[in-house]
Amino acid sequence: MPVVAVVGRPNVGKSALVNRIIGRREAVVQDIPGVTRDRVSYPAEWNERRFSLMDTGGWEPDAKGLDQSVAVQAEVAIDTADVILFVVDSRVGPTATDERVVSLLRQSGVPVVVVANKVDDQRQEPEIASLWSLGLGEPWPVSALHGRGVADLLDHVLTLLPTKAKAPIQPGGPRRVALVGKPNVGKSSLLNKAARSERVVVADTAGTTRDPVDELVDIGGETWKFVDTAGIRRKVHLQQGADFYASLRTQAALEKAEVAVVVIDVSEPVSEQDMRIIDLVVESGRGLVIAFNKWDLLDDERRRYLEREIEVDLDHVDWAPRVNISAETGRHIEKLPHALHTALESWDRRIGTGELNAFVAELAQAHPHPVRGGKQPRVLYATQATTRPPTFVLFTTGFLDPQYRRFIQRRLRETYGFEGTPIRIQMRVRE
Ligand code: GDP
Repeated sequence: MPVVAVVGRPNVGKSALVNRIIGRREAVVQDIPGVTRDRVSYPAEWNERRFSLMDTGGWEPDAKGLDQSVAVQAEVAIDTADVILFVVDSRVGPTATDERVVSLLRQSGVPVVVVANKVDDQRQEPEIASLWSLGLGEPWPVSALHGRGVADLLDHVLTLLPTKAKAPIQPGGPRRVALVGKPNVGKSSLLNKAARSERVVVADTAGTTRDPVDELVDIGGETWKFVDTAGIRRKVHLQQGADFYASLRTQAALEKAEVAVVVIDVSEPVSEQDMRIIDLVVESGRGLVIAFNKWDLLDDERRRYLEREIEVDLDHVDWAPRVNISAETGRHIEKLPHALHTALESWDRRIGTGELNAFVAELAQAHPHPVRGGKQPRVLYATQATTRPPTFVLFTTGFLDPQYRRFIQRRLRETYGFEGTPIRIQMRVRE
């Protein structure tokens, strides 16, 4: 799906614009300064064109970290977006921070639309003329809060999106891998090690001047496309908001990937942030492989702790293939392709409707749903609606308990494997 990224200083109205475009209620996401919002990408649609809307402003720095933070947001957007909405507060006009971002945007080759926000009234429109001086073309006056001008803006954005004919994904091409994980777990070391033994080709970025974003890497004679490696290669040392930017990068990479390798540093305890990154992968519906890196640093004591941490903290993703590697020594990196294939095969897998209904019938007989309020919901029929990830629809006579849904999910895994992919279950209740 094409990606439209929203970039700009704090308080220019980025979130309000995102809310307006995706039709979300303002109250739900009132921004609280300094509070990290984890989610940054939202599905959006305009005139039957679907795109992913990325809000880079989930973390608002204080004055000290401002310039750097906004610049990093712009860089992430440049690396990942098809169109960038650069939001400016029309009442304030361009500031020094804006200028700095503008020079990054101008060099990027990515189409940029200047959005002059807070134009709540037609009489204010002439004031935005000063924004022509940014050199990014015509400023578009909008009021994100009241919706004014947003339809015209979106009409214009659609003209800038890549056409369907230019679909970036060729069937039979290299599979797309996101290498994700906390800072310093060894992502760039792994990329280097994998690349050094073989060949690295910088993927074509279609005539733009932006940094190479994706890299083709051969592992064991097979080519994989590692997406958004610019984010791995370009180290940013932020005093503030490092977690948020890691999360931003992760989600940007997941947008483009089919399968993710979450790298975890075994020399340190498995952390909240590791788990959050795993959750982002599961939420994104991509395949999941866990790489335990720095295995060379593992002593017996740490190994015992690690086993315990895996049991407790990673129990909910016990279906993900694991590789124990060392990016330093090269240990077991050659096992990565097998794990990736396992995840991708599951991700692509489809269970026939006949087989699925035999499974459901057997399940209902051996383990019927408990009676609730004198009623016993039954599953009438099941079908796999989609792959990537496998998504099942159950047609039922009533709402199924969450426990029962989890039970079905577990049984689906026990029966069919689905190693390395999240699976989703949806319900349609027939009254
Ligand atoms: P990134 O931020 O995830 O890309 O992490 P880097 O690849 O920059 O690695 C962070 C640090 O960990 C560097 O000092 C690496 O040399 C070191 N490192 C990475 N992988 C390994 C490993 O397998 N074993 C050891 N001992 N050190 C590693």
